[in-house]
Amino acid sequence: MTVGEELHRLVAELYPICRSITGDGVRRTLEVIGRELELQVREVPTGTEVLDWTVPREWNVRDAWVAGPDGRRVIDFADSNLHLMGYSVPVRATMPLAELRQHLHTLPDHPDWVPWRTSYYAERWGFCASQRLVDRLPEGDYRVCVDTTLADGHLTYAEHVVPGRTDDEVLISCHVCHPSLANDNLSGIAVATRLAGMLARSRPRYTYRFLFAPGTIGSITWLARNEDRVGRIRHGLVLACLGDPGGLTYKRSRRGDAEIDQAVAHVLRRSGRPHRLVDFSPYGYDERQFCSPGFNLPVGCLSRTPYAQYPEYHTSADDLDLVRPEHLQDSLEVCWEVVQLLEANRRYRNLFPKGEPQLGRRGLYGSIGGRSDAEAHQMAMLWVLNLSDGDHTLLDVADRAELPFAVIADAARDLERAGLLSSPAAR
Ligand code: ZN
Repeated sequence: MTVGEELHRLVAELYPICRSITGDGVRRTLEVIGRELELQVREVPTGTEVLDWTVPREWNVRDAWVAGPDGRRVIDFADSNLHLMGYSVPVRATMPLAELRQHLHTLPDHPDWVPWRTSYYAERWGFCASQRLVDRLPEGDYRVCVDTTLADGHLTYAEHVVPGRTDDEVLISCHVCHPSLANDNLSGIAVATRLAGMLARSRPRYTYRFLFAPGTIGSITWLARNEDRVGRIRHGLVLACLGDPGGLTYKRSRRGDAEIDQAVAHVLRRSGRPHRLVDFSPYGYDERQFCSPGFNLPVGCLSRTPYAQYPEYHTSADDLDLVRPEHLQDSLEVCWEVVQLLEANRRYRNLFPKGEPQLGRRGLYGSIGGRSDAEAHQMAMLWVLNLSDGDHTLLDVADRAELPFAVIADAARDLERAGLLSSPAAR
């Protein structure tokens, strides 16, 4: 089984669970992730003030259906959790079709798809169904059952920390609040989970904090409870929509020139993959919260086709066929390359900055015959020596020299061994 197939299997296992911004679906999701990663699960009580928000009541579903005039169920939560509007309040009623229709949501442009709808902060109920099904409903009286609970409880999120050799942190965040939607939430969860596992085996320099939280209210809750520690975050990525066939899209942090912005751009450009780099906007996923002006964290967002830009977005067509193993694996590989780059990026100082140091005498010049990249390696050494003035990072050097980061890092290693570069500080 390929890594991509393993990631897809995790997506498929999580797919049927009815998640929302609170409730048992989030807990079950975290239990599944918890088999692969040690999670610290946090439960924050309803009513807790978090920044300008309040943790809402907890929502859970026992059952929900609509039965037609002949008594048969025509819409049933048991068939798909998308059929029930998220946060629907309880109701048991009988009503004529015209009245029922006011509570039905469809997608006329995609008559076979079921939309996903929510009403987190207004007390309503509703069902979602295909236009084709709704068009076929006969006149008559319909029985409606929404057997949900909306009560004081908790908001649930989880953290996983991969300890590093320093306290400087990299934040990796994904949302866990969508029901049966595969690309939007589950792809990010799968990639983040595997990335954490890979990092744990690599003894990283940075400490990596993975956040699995419901969108918006979850990240706001986390920020409210961690205000004193966000200063440790050196880099961050929000992961979402990483399994569809579209090319990769990186949305820069609000700062626009953070090291993470430069690192992802370098990896994508050098990879030869089709990709897009877009500037920050205050819309999308939880980068909205991390990049709010009071925090302004260096956090970007990596997706394939971004938020709301694919037709299957927030519909039943965002399913296990839209997300493919090879795209999940490709996304994971890019995340890994970005992380490896951050790990190796440093500022060095040239210890012989007056004139060029004599490379030949130190066995560094022309003595690397046979290397297929001899010329690039030599150029890389000259660039590293020239720009290692304490201000430029190796990534700055790579971008300026138009050489791959790995070639620049390799040259720096050789120069350091030869005593021409000073060891950098921890960061
Ligand atoms: Zn979404």
